[in-house]
Amino acid sequence: MTDIDKVFDPEEFRRLGHNLIDMLADNLAYNTSSARPKVIDFVDPDQNLTDWQNYESTNPEDYFRKVMENSMQLHHPAYIGHQVSPPAPLSALAAMEGMLINSGGAIYEMSAASSTIERVVIDSLKPYFGFHDGDGIITSGGTLANLTAMICARNVKAPGEVWKNGSEARFAFMVSEEAHYCIDRAVRVMGWGDTGIIKVPVDNSFRIRTHLLETYYQEATQKGIHVLGIVGSAPTTSTGIYDDLTALGKFSRDYDLWYHIDAAHGGPAVFSDTYRHLMSGCELADSITVDAHKMMMVPSLTTMLFFRNSHDSYRTFAQQADYLWNSSVEEWYNYGKRTMECTKIMLSIRIHALMLHYGVKIFGSNIDRCYGLAQSFADMIDRNENFELAVRPHSNIVCFRIKADNGALTDHLNKEVRKAALHDGRFYIVQTSLKGSTWLRVSIMNPLTTETHLAFLLRYLTDLKHSMS
Ligand SMILES: *Cc1c(COP(=O)(O)O)cnc(C)c1O
Repeated sequence: MTDIDKVFDPEEFRRLGHNLIDMLADNLAYNTSSARPKVIDFVDPDQNLTDWQNYESTNPEDYFRKVMENSMQLHHPAYIGHQVSPPAPLSALAAMEGMLINSGGAIYEMSAASSTIERVVIDSLKPYFGFHDGDGIITSGGTLANLTAMICARNVKAPGEVWKNGSEARFAFMVSEEAHYCIDRAVRVMGWGDTGIIKVPVDNSFRIRTHLLETYYQEATQKGIHVLGIVGSAPTTSTGIYDDLTALGKFSRDYDLWYHIDAAHGGPAVFSDTYRHLMSGCELADSITVDAHKMMMVPSLTTMLFFRNSHDSYRTFAQQADYLWNSSVEEWYNYGKRTMECTKIMLSIRIHALMLHYGVKIFGSNIDRCYGLAQSFADMIDRNENFELAVRPHSNIVCFRIKADNGALTDHLNKEVRKAALHDGRFYIVQTSLKGSTWLRVSIMNPLTTETHLAFLLRYLTDLKHSMS
């Protein structure tokens, strides 16, 4: 066998593949049963670099195991940190199939299955957002989906043809001061600079103050800034609080603005009978970003971008690429006309595999479980005199902190507790800054986490605090 024959040897693939699946299945059981003592085995970055630089693999099995052991264990019930989903194994398998077939892309003939399934997924899910005639695309991440929507908004709402001629005008979007930083980034990528993002303050429960929209809008207009749209957060990343999506929608209608909802995290609430109300008003949006890799148990990055008006989904990249397609008609099946990507990962199958085999209702069950647990956790915090809540949660994101004794420095204590927890590794939680102070933050992403784990977390944090004084 030549070197190259060996690379593509089907029997070698079969053997390694079986071993890999066995290793991953054992690890899944180790995590889901809570038998694995740590959710993260934290290694200092420079130390880790030295380890990897000196690592010499004896065989692929050894290499696969080292990668696994050096990673965060997302299926461990104590994984309650950042907003990345522990993927459903079936979705991960679909992703793996897509990786070897590798037939995704801009043009239909390269990607018959994944492009057609993309249409099926978007068409099946859009009615849940109230978009009965809409359309959409699947792309690599919420950051890119938000940028795509905002470029589209500029093409539709700005006077003249900005895509073709550029523009000297000063454009802006209005957002909550708590919006995800990628909105700020999108505005700057489009060249709008500091004045391109108008940050509207939030109230005590971290929702955008909708009664200030008028003032901020008029102020910008008087300075010669042309406001093109509004972004609603559903929910905001730090606190997990949903904006009043109906009020934002009404304001957008009144002023003929593009209304985008960044529902990267919490869009899938529409699949839950209990939590759908959080998204009410979303049917007023022109576009909605929904990450499947956050609350839909799909591997990263897999993001849907829905448009209320199907025609708009063709207006983002109104440009010719003659070697790929020779017409400017709206061909639903050539997705490269509508996505930032040219070559694309086979993303649609990751969502479709779950819908087909477990039903769309599985997405609602995941929301019910994770959002419900956050409510129980908030109750536990309310009842525990050592802790306080930043705000009553809407979603599965809970911000809270441990109280300091007799006026000691609360911020310092919470930073130290979080740092100690990271290095210890039995729970993975994060921290955030709210109105200038430090809070602990959990995102209950794992539907296998239970109230027992969360009760244990509070005891664990209390013990950490005592071990520090
Ligand atoms: C996570 C998140 C993003 C960024 O999405 P990626 O998929 O990580 O690029 C944007 N907005 C909100 C509200 C988010 O929660």
